[in-house]
Amino acid sequence: MVYTKRFDGRKFDETRKIEAKLGVIEKADGSAYFAFGDTQAIAAVYGPRTLYPQHLQDPTKGILRCNYDMLSFSVGERKRPGPNRRSTEISLVTQNSLLPALKLDKFPNSVVDVFIIILQANAGTRTAGINAASLALAHAGLPMIDLVSSVSVGKVGGKIVVDMIKEEEDYREKSGERASTDIPFAVLPRLGKVSLLQLDGDVTRKELNEALKLANDTCAKIHEVQKKVLRDSFNKWK
Ligand code: ADP
Repeated sequence: MVYTKRFDGRKFDETRKIEAKLGVIEKADGSAYFAFGDTQAIAAVYGPRTLYPQHLQDPTKGILRCNYDMLSFSVGERKRPGPNRRSTEISLVTQNSLLPALKLDKFPNSVVDVFIIILQANAGTRTAGINAASLALAHAGLPMIDLVSSVSVGKVGGKIVVDMIKEEEDYREKSGERASTDIPFAVLPRLGKVSLLQLDGDVTRKELNEALKLANDTCAKIHEVQKKVLRDSFNKWK
């Protein structure tokens, strides 16, 4: 079955409404909120601070630790509190997607902790979390080479789309066969370096090229939003 109109009426290359805010957690060294419509993430950064236990310290550079979690009430069915395999995987890919943006060699024996909480989940939570975390790291004043901008693209019923909702991720043919592919993507826009690329489903090489172009173009727009939020915040202190 061909997917001719998106469930929520968006264009195929249109994201949900993007919202970004800084300084949402007062006690953190840096914090941010980022939302794709009803997928909402908060990130809080603590550090750099001395890493304990001491045997984990690296005298040549600091380390980054990311922790991703979804609140129990973030999804329709109550999610069991606490970590699981999925949150462990997302914490790790988030960490890897942010690492190339940081200059951790300036902070030997230290750790930078990033806590990401998903308040509401309707697909795309890892990408919203990465956008929030990237903003929070910049808000904390950490020296960064670049920001990280992230979005999920994919294929629904043969159409390449951006920022899929859960209903699209679960799209099936009448036969019951799964007809959607999810491709979370993150890029360091200034450097043009891709730091997250996952693929769940199947695509042809041509479709993948189209999807990656859409992901990259959308990340450029997200990057503009991130820069504006940071600029506005720093202008306040002038
Ligand atoms: P992402 O949120 O990055 O797209 P997944 O593809 O693993 O990551 O998850 C897709 C969506 O599935 C989530 O955004 C959320 O809406 C839903 N989901 C994930 N885990 C659960 C859960 N334990 N209970 C209910 N819904 C969940």
